[in-house]
Amino acid sequence: MSISKPCPKCSFGRIRPTTAPYILDYFGHPLIFPEAPAHGCDVCRYLIYDTTFLFELDHLMDQFETAQQPNRAVPPVIV
Ligand SMILES: [Zn+2]
Repeated sequence: MSISKPCPKCSFGRIRPTTAPYILDYFGHPLIFPEAPAHGCDVCRYLIYDTTFLFELDHLMDQFETAQQPNRAVPPVIV
């Protein structure tokens, strides 16, 4: 298991794995992740979202946006 690190903000607390709500503004529509993985300070509540979660979310949104583009290649329909 990972060893907790000292908080970079207050230097008193320890950074521990936790979850926190993450809200993404997707073209004016809120996408809410109620329990996004994060790391938080047990003293000052400084919060860092998990970088793997953010990377995977960004990758998923890129794939979704690519799929939503109207000018993407569409296979021809042969009648
Ligand atoms: Zn702290």
